[in-house]
Amino acid sequence: MSLLDKVPGDLRLYIGGLFTLRRKAALQDCGITHILSILRLPLDKELFESYVHEVVEADDVDDENLLEHFPACNKFIQEGLDAGGGVLVHCAMGKSRSATIICAYLTQRNNISPHDALSQLREARPFCEPNDGFMKQLELYHAMCTPENVDETPAYQRWLYEREVELSRACGQAPEAEKIRFEDEHEKESSAADFELRCRKCRRALATSQYLVNHKKRKETNPGGQASRQTDGCSHYFLDPLSWMRPELEQGKLDGRLECPKCKTNVGKYAWQGMQCSCGDWVVPGISLAKGKIDEVKSRPPGAVNLGIRMPPSMGRKPGPGQQNL
Ligand SMILES: [Zn+2]
Ligand SMILES: [Zn+2]
Repeated sequence: MSLLDKVPGDLRLYIGGLFTLRRKAALQDCGITHILSILRLPLDKELFESYVHEVVEADDVDDENLLEHFPACNKFIQEGLDAGGGVLVHCAMGKSRSATIICAYLTQRNNISPHDALSQLREARPFCEPNDGFMKQLELYHAMCTPENVDETPAYQRWLYEREVELSRACGQAPEAEKIRFEDEHEKESSAADFELRCRKCRRALATSQYLVNHKKRKETNPGGQASRQTDGCSHYFLDPLSWMRPELEQGKLDGRLECPKCKTNVGKYAWQGMQCSCGDWVVPGISLAKGKIDEVKSRPPGAVNLGIRMPPSMGRKPGPGQQNL
């Protein structure tokens, strides 16, 4: 294991472990002026006296959120490099956490994939290996187009929610009420809904196809493909949490029934720890409407007249698709 390694390329960017810090001469030879520590350990302050120093407290575990620190770390690295100095990013071993931060920087700076960034880093330090959770965070960061404001990015918020559900599931609990993401209270990236799901008894709109969770053959079918095809043969529609479910989902129960908010008919059920569909697939978390209680109604494109469906008289007074509060 080398003491510290220079990231290949023309940047004065270095990666190392804890013991690197004690080799003053080596740090001096590399012209290190800035040090970024990625660990949750008490650090000897004297070691950093002659450097610009930042600490990100993080453990090397899959569910540690490093993603939220990427923008600030990138900024710190860039400032150090722009000032003409050398920048050292270190963790305990210089293997997972510091490699993740350097990959995030290279991904953002060079607009490359995290895998390409890691390959580049491994040319200098072959054993660099972000843990699986960090690798997924890097992929998400890249997919989000490396925003400066991660917190306000819907994909990040969605990831936080899924993480919360997974963490609470691991300890056998329902997610905390304020952590549940009611998907219809957030802007959707795609605005067109193919169809609506309505209560068979009272016709109340309960969901649009945008909020379906496509569990079947998810990997094999084309992404963004028609949701209806993928639920053929299943006796449930699986959904994201929607605001009409709020009174039930916020009770903190592990599972329960879902009633139509208008006519109070039992239309479905939920189980945070997951539910098996009639097709055999498990959906986690499982929030489902029973097909027998629901009518699938094709959504009208705004402004178009759909002669195929006879709308009940009340339809005319309702706001158009996408504007309804589900
Ligand atoms: Zn109803
Ligand atoms: Zn199914």
